[in-house]
Amino acid sequence: MDGLTPEQARLRDRARELAREAAAQAAETDRTERYPWPMVRRMTEAGLMGLTIPKAFGGAGSSYLDAVLVIEELAKACAVCGRIAVEANMGAIGAVMAYGSPAQQRLAAGLVLAGDKPAICITEPEAGSAATEMTTRAVRRGDAWVIDGVKHWITGGGVSRLHLVFARAFEDGVDLGIGGFLVVRGGEGDPAGLVIHRRIPSMGLKGMPEAEIHFRGLEVPDSMVLRPPGGFARGFGRLMEAYNGQRVGAATAALGIAAGAFDRAMDYAQARRQFGRPIAEFQGLAWMLADMSIRLEASRALIWRAARSAGPGDGADGFPDRLAAAQAKVLAADTAIEVTNQALQVWGAAGYSRDNPMERFVRDARMFAIAGGTAQVLRTQVAERILGRKLPQTRDGFLRQAAE
Ligand code: FAD
Repeated sequence: MDGLTPEQARLRDRARELAREAAAQAAETDRTERYPWPMVRRMTEAGLMGLTIPKAFGGAGSSYLDAVLVIEELAKACAVCGRIAVEANMGAIGAVMAYGSPAQQRLAAGLVLAGDKPAICITEPEAGSAATEMTTRAVRRGDAWVIDGVKHWITGGGVSRLHLVFARAFEDGVDLGIGGFLVVRGGEGDPAGLVIHRRIPSMGLKGMPEAEIHFRGLEVPDSMVLRPPGGFARGFGRLMEAYNGQRVGAATAALGIAAGAFDRAMDYAQARRQFGRPIAEFQGLAWMLADMSIRLEASRALIWRAARSAGPGDGADGFPDRLAAAQAKVLAADTAIEVTNQALQVWGAAGYSRDNPMERFVRDARMFAIAGGTAQVLRTQVAERILGRKLPQTRDGFLRQAAE
């Protein structure tokens, strides 16, 4: 009924197996706010980091749907592990495998297959949803580019090795457009100009550092510029196409968190008795559980549709369709917030206690309607596509369109 191949079902079983270990450490990761290196090692050994990397570069050549199956299982058990699996299979690594030079592809594949979760650096203090208003600059100097600027809310800042840094590129004073620059941290010749300025304390997914990163005269050789077709002029658009993969992954992590909370709500509703009956027999809760299951199935269906739109894997993939990815992320993010809250409600006071994982699911679910395109901005993207018209967000853009 789910249309999965036997290989996909086996891959999901493998992820489920590892998810047991992920579940065992999830509360500790949340409490200590430490990046779960032991789990990353286990995921690396199990071949779940870099699944989508083509076989020619040492990966499994898996499709986006394969990765989605793995991410959901891990996120059900430990949201941080789910998110690591997102960024080890989609986002920056997808962009490099699609647009990179062979040397860049080898470098990125090697890092991820050895356990790195790349970081993608777009957001700035004054450029969030309006990402193209970024002020980080990359100025050409001979064979290198010199980057200055500040990025914040960079997931994995301080633990990631590969960084894909978005900056506005200038050559001879001319603004060429926004480009992507690859920087590797944490090895020999650690780049001095990439400074992890501070860790940002966050509400959920506490084992995953969110960082403010300062770039101070960071030199990046021209060979590390990620050049999509169309060069800098089309750079931002192309790089954001790769980001559609990340959106499908983020939607899946949200789904996994919600599904994990739902499973526990189902168990508790049948075990907990009040008024001499299992609480699942009260229609108020039974319908709540029914609605939760409907929302989860709908989210899963949209995510799988978006993942399938990318293609069969092993280098033959494009990126997920932009509309499908945005629709899936909006629904999954909203669903995660609703379902985790309802699941906590089923548990009553026990759900509110830090002795149980329900409150962690609520906290972990909250970010998906913000990061990687907010619920509002993605709704505008969906509206643009279904209406077949641009919906300018700047006042100037809106006035120009109104005057046409
Ligand atoms: P703002 O853009 O200031 O928006 C504030 C509010 O206004 C939001 O509700 C927003 O929806 C609304 N709004 C803004 N513009 C519009 C509009 N045109 N129409 C309707 N509503 C609008 N960034 C990275 O580059 N790399 C990362 O790894 C990364 N990881 C993140 C992880 C987490 C946990 C979080 C919370 C954020 C992360 N981000 C990352 C940043 C994220 O992408 C931004 O937070 C997001 O793009 C929104 O920007 P902002 O927070 O500045 O909000």
